[in-house]
Amino acid sequence: MEMELLRCKCQFCGNSHNFVEAVQEGYARVSYSAFGSQPLYHLICLDCGSVVRSYIKKPEKAQKHKLSECY
Ligand SMILES: [Zn+2]
Repeated sequence: MEMELLRCKCQFCGNSHNFVEAVQEGYARVSYSAFGSQPLYHLICLDCGSVVRSYIKKPEKAQKHKLSECY
């Protein structure tokens, strides 16, 4: 987990250690099929408030819905 955080760097202010992980509240999930959705997490820079990264925690669960082509 520490390694994971070390790779994070805010591209806006250069901060690389002062972050909070936030989850989007309520029904604001990302859906990739009628049956699959996950909460969306954001890594937020505590120095300037920018969202540095948005991600889901279980990408393997969405694997079977992956696109054959990238548009
Ligand atoms: Zn920042």
